Amino acid sequence: MATTLTQLTACPPWCTLEPGHPWDSIHDDGRQSRGHGGPQFGRFLFAGSLEMETGEVTMDVEIHTEDKQVNDLSVADLLDLAAHTVAAAEWLEANR
Ligand SMILES: [Zn+2]
Repeated sequence: MATTLTQLTACPPWCTLEPGHPWDSIHDDGRQSRGHGGPQFGRFLFAGSLEMETGEVTMDVEIHTEDKQVNDLSVADLLDLAAHTVAAAEWLEANR
């Protein structure tokens, strides 16, 4: 059985990863995907997208609290989230 390599599409203009980065995941149904890294908003909000080799693209903003628990944020952490959430939502709306 021959292996067919899927042609990669160009990264979105906002992707911060190395141009032409390869598929990085294989899903249960056998399809490949790769994540594109977008801008970071504050210390916790990371924008990006998931591109499936079949063409579907899902945009999102993830909350990464590093080693902190989601329910154990400090006042400074919450203020950082509050200060950057609107900008992250606007970026997501403008880029999806
Ligand atoms: Zn990319």
